[in-house]
Amino acid sequence: MKLLLHSCCGPCTVYPYRVLRQNYDISVYFFNPNIHPYQEFIRRKDTLLDFCNKNDLEIIGKQEYGLREYLRKVVGDEDNKCTHCYSWRMEETALMACKFGYNAFTTSLLYSKYQDHIQLKRFGYTLAEKYNICFVYEDFRVGWQEGIDESIQLEMYRQPYCGCIYSEQERYDKKFKRKN
Ligand code: SF4
Repeated sequence: MKLLLHSCCGPCTVYPYRVLRQNYDISVYFFNPNIHPYQEFIRRKDTLLDFCNKNDLEIIGKQEYGLREYLRKVVGDEDNKCTHCYSWRMEETALMACKFGYNAFTTSLLYSKYQDHIQLKRFGYTLAEKYNICFVYEDFRVGWQEGIDESIQLEMYRQPYCGCIYSEQERYDKKFKRKN
């Protein structure tokens, strides 16, 4: 069964890949216009490309930087930015999966303890119905530490914030709060 795995970054892909490769023929799709600034986007993309190359894993799509498109989606509705971010990335993955003849799709976002897992799961099943394709749901969070350990062992770049410019600010705001 051919599966398209949406990958948000290299470290979050390690554990889902280990699980999914047992049952699926996997390709990776790096569609993350949420990642800013540009140098950070390139760094995360290159980390994933390196992992894919070392594991003989096909990566599809153009992997383009998407600052303007991302901002068009969220400006004016920043309080719901993650909902826009999830639905956009997951829908693009479902569409790519259909376009290129995959039987199923899923996302490495299901690995992260920091994402809204329930919402991601709901989007996955809704998109599966909309596009008549299988959504593979797994709670990859059970492998949280295993994935971290392996990504460190592989000397991957591990990013310190979620991805968008808002989350970059929140990272520094939290540090500021801790100091006081
Ligand atoms: S915090 Fe993360 S999931 Fe939410 S909008 Fe920003 S990049 Fe996307």
